[in-house]
Amino acid sequence: MIMNIETINSLRAIGLQLDRDQYPSVYNNGIVKPGGSVIALSTPGEEVKHDSDRQKRSTTRSRERPSRRQRSSKRSRSSSEASPFVCSSLRATYEAEIDEVREAYPGTKIWQQAEGMWLRTESAVLPGLEKKATFLTVIPYSRIHIQKSWGFWTTPIYTQWIGPRHTNFPDGSVCAFDPKDGTWKLGDKLRDLLDIYTLWALRHEHLNLCGRWPGHQAVPHVYERITELKPDELCGCGKKDLRYADCCQETDLTSPFIENFFRFMRFTQGSLQRSPPSEIVEMIKHHATPPPINNYVSSIVPLH
Ligand SMILES: [Zn+2]
Repeated sequence: MIMNIETINSLRAIGLQLDRDQYPSVYNNGIVKPGGSVIALSTPGEEVKHDSDRQKRSTTRSRERPSRRQRSSKRSRSSSEASPFVCSSLRATYEAEIDEVREAYPGTKIWQQAEGMWLRTESAVLPGLEKKATFLTVIPYSRIHIQKSWGFWTTPIYTQWIGPRHTNFPDGSVCAFDPKDGTWKLGDKLRDLLDIYTLWALRHEHLNLCGRWPGHQAVPHVYERITELKPDELCGCGKKDLRYADCCQETDLTSPFIENFFRFMRFTQGSLQRSPPSEIVEMIKHHATPPPINNYVSSIVPLH
């Protein structure tokens, strides 16, 4: 794919800022620009900067612990049969934000179900980038279930899952932040969540073109640091500002590999593969109607 030099320079500039814990701004259409840049307003309504600082805290986590699907997930419950976990005030909060989401991400498609909503949004990511990051996001109206999203690079002729770095096992969903760190919490603005996903996609494009994940990342498991981190990426152990080569790499490489491997396998519940479910890929490729969200959401706490 051909990319103009300005786009690459912008990507590099944002990557350098992320390494320094400085955060870019996300504008309408999911366009990311280096922080501190002067934005010329051409047409009113364009180039609307999102004034949230949510993404400033989005230290990208490696992945969340895979949660068991909720018990009812195997059954395709009809969307008219409301779950006892549905929180009407949460639903009202999210529904009230739909216009704002549509303004920030034009072309957003929303499917509302009794238990939550699906959103299909597109992020341009960088001016001049010849593909879009398309996200399929599940927002449960529940305080005990977590949102989930899958990212794909899309053009008129192809669809490519964005991963596997910083995605969850085994469903390949986006892992853009640690749910425990307060980057985005239940009831926070949906637009902010989509901005965080947009920045996650940008980091992937930086990995793709510049060969390294930019910025802080949480990669606590030795096995995944050994297998995934590049020496010049920031280390994922929790100590900020040190590159992997200058931090844990030597210790990781001399620690017992098999032991680390099995520890990691226990964490992922035996899976080393990540890929999006076929129904999700179909939805992206063929604009298929989404299935009940209960098939996809994970509970924060085990439901028993
Ligand atoms: Zn380290």
